[in-house]
Amino acid sequence: MPSPTFHNYIDGQWVAGATFENRNPADTSDLVGEFVSGTATDMADAVDAASRALPAWSAMPAPSRGALLHRVADGLDRKFEQLSEELTREEGKTLPESKGEVRRAINIFRYFAAEGNRMPGPVVPSERDRIHMWAQRKPIGVVGLITPWNFPIAIPAWKMAPALICGNTVVIKPASLAPLCAWRIVEACREAGIPKGVVNFVAGSGGTLGKSLIAAPALRAVSFTGSCGVGEWLHAEASKRRLRIQLEMGGKNPAIVLADAPFELAVENTVNAAFFSTGQKCTATSRVIVEDDIYDRFLAALVERTKKLKVGNGLEAGIDIGPAVDEAQLETDLRYIEIARKESGKPLCGGHRLTGGDYDKGYFIEPTIFAGVTEKMTIAREEIFGPVLAVMRANDFEDAMRIANNIPFGLSSSIQTSNLSRAFEFVQQAEAGMLMVNLPSAGVEYQLPFGGSKESSFGPKEQGPAAMEFYSDWKTIYLKY
Ligand code: NAP
Repeated sequence: MPSPTFHNYIDGQWVAGATFENRNPADTSDLVGEFVSGTATDMADAVDAASRALPAWSAMPAPSRGALLHRVADGLDRKFEQLSEELTREEGKTLPESKGEVRRAINIFRYFAAEGNRMPGPVVPSERDRIHMWAQRKPIGVVGLITPWNFPIAIPAWKMAPALICGNTVVIKPASLAPLCAWRIVEACREAGIPKGVVNFVAGSGGTLGKSLIAAPALRAVSFTGSCGVGEWLHAEASKRRLRIQLEMGGKNPAIVLADAPFELAVENTVNAAFFSTGQKCTATSRVIVEDDIYDRFLAALVERTKKLKVGNGLEAGIDIGPAVDEAQLETDLRYIEIARKESGKPLCGGHRLTGGDYDKGYFIEPTIFAGVTEKMTIAREEIFGPVLAVMRANDFEDAMRIANNIPFGLSSSIQTSNLSRAFEFVQQAEAGMLMVNLPSAGVEYQLPFGGSKESSFGPKEQGPAAMEFYSDWKTIYLKY
């Protein structure tokens, strides 16, 4: 059967062109689909279309926009099983992980659909007689959304839904490694009856399309999730035009394990956060900082548990960890493993690409643990974005906190402890946007702000009520009666 071709979607039309392949990283003979590689002109057309659609969409009552977003959620829900399988095929994470992510995307659409009935704005008493004064939200305009491959449906959902409910029109540029899930959201938007031009989709090279997007005169804002390097470039370009910008980027997330931690839970949380989704979560734990008193016992249990993880094709039952997303990411993982071998010696488990049998079909790698890692070592400082965990020793809580914060990143941070005071001290002192107590460092919900601090993020937070701040502006009105 020929592989399906997924066109770009501009001004309500499917737009054809040269294509690129989207392959399953667990089995590269599985061609998920071919996607049209958008040109700079396609991107400019998409922004123009979004600009033309803006007046009518932003004038539509917000509850009516919400009703359409509910229909998008319904459309995604009808394809729940198909979408989950497609997500696993294009990104590699296990089917249960994909199901969780698809469910989250559906819930995000419902959450922001409901915001259409609220659109809260302050009404306050005037100091003056017979003056009524209030502030109401207004859209910012055309918004460009650039998304990464690692949460290929949740991240497009958590950018598109708040942008749309606030009355903006959007152009989405998904990651080239996993564009299908975002395409499915766009398909659901079309089927839900969202008018032409309101949602536009342009897949293709980030370099080409990014330049064209940022130069498009009608663009008013950019929301980007991805690597620090691209984020920095976008920030510099957007500043020249005073575009509103939101950047969510890398991390080097610590997990502190204190001697009083609930032991089994701490082991499980660390393994989950470090290795599930092949360590390819921005909030994954990549440094576990263990208090001296339990260091040896914790390390032994961690290695024993990690060795039991099953790596394989995420579509198969019983698999814990899928492949690296592509050959380049696999090579990055292996390169850091070689650096770590030189810096801290042999890993306690893992350290190799998995080969033989079905492993030869994809980009599989063993979950890997290095112990005795110190603060100056490369694997304690640089984001790897793979299943490679650095174990570090701390004298006590204060030392652990210092090590955890001694990093330019600040996305997520976790602590495992049964001491309530320590938990609160951690909350006070941790230099990160997302804090977890007795939980894995990864695993967030959509009802609260999401984002980091320090070099991990820039601009207003995503998700929850915070998302409304990025995607809307204020009109303040004074009325004499
Ligand atoms: P990436 O290489 O920066 O790509 C992200 C997106 O930017 C892709 O759509 C990419 O397109 C596009 N892009 C590439 N060059 C561009 C340019 N010059 N201008 C505009 N767009 C450009 O990141 P990734 O490898 O997909 O994702 C991994 C990174 O994302 C990690 O650092 C991870 O920590 C971070 N991340 C952060 C969060 C968070 O919330 N903080 C969440 C998830 C991931 P192409 O695919 O065509 O290159």
